[in-house]
Amino acid sequence: MIIRRAFMRKPFIAGNWKMNTDMAGGVELARGIVAGVSGIAGHSVDVAVYPPFIYLSEISKALSSSGISVGGQDVYFEEKGAFTGEISAVMLKDVGCVRALCGHSERRHVIGESDELINKKVKAAINGGLLPTLCVGELLEERQAGKTEEVVSRHVTKGLEGLCSERMPAVTIAYEPVWAIGTGLTATPEQAQEVHAMIRGLLAKLYDQGLADEIRIQYGGSVKADNAAELMGQADIDGALVGGASLKVDDFVAIIKAAE
Ligand code: PEP
Repeated sequence: MIIRRAFMRKPFIAGNWKMNTDMAGGVELARGIVAGVSGIAGHSVDVAVYPPFIYLSEISKALSSSGISVGGQDVYFEEKGAFTGEISAVMLKDVGCVRALCGHSERRHVIGESDELINKKVKAAINGGLLPTLCVGELLEERQAGKTEEVVSRHVTKGLEGLCSERMPAVTIAYEPVWAIGTGLTATPEQAQEVHAMIRGLLAKLYDQGLADEIRIQYGGSVKADNAAELMGQADIDGALVGGASLKVDDFVAIIKAAE
């Protein structure tokens, strides 16, 4: 049980399924999570999953009335037209999504997305009625070179460029050190807290302290049932964006319960 702090930001746990599951396995996973967190999801903890695009309709149905929200792992910034392979905010909403990830490290570093593109996606998500999560985080060599603050500040500042304070409450930020994603290496609670506090301070400078205190900042990077409570016990860590452990019902449910 986490002792909540002065600013009552509701914990937010999200599962990024990446390019995993098939239709039947995804529906089974969704149903298992529903059974495991009934009475918690949407009440004491906000819970979301980001399945692959092509399973979104079925997963949305499996999660209807569960209090668990569904999001796209990405969103394109145009509404419609000749953009082969892309999916717009309107389309995501049409299949039951309320959220979208923007700038996940695999989109930044495997696909090659820039801060400018990610900024357009964050704005398009909000304009289209979705709640975006802006993912930020440094590479191992950037941390080793002492550039964590510089890199993360750039991701946050450029990712939010042009977003007025009225729109900001729609945004969640996920701090995901790239060296901790899918590697089994987790930032220590102190390392994570240091960056989360820096991000919150930056939000206060970019906007104001009230808004900075309101915005949820998730940690992501090998979050597991056995490290979740300690991470989320830190003052500025408001939940987790979970990859691998979100694919197993028991592990994901345990992480959600650790956030209560
Ligand atoms: C992620 O995909 O955002 C992630 C944090 O993955 P993992 O939990 O597997 O490190």
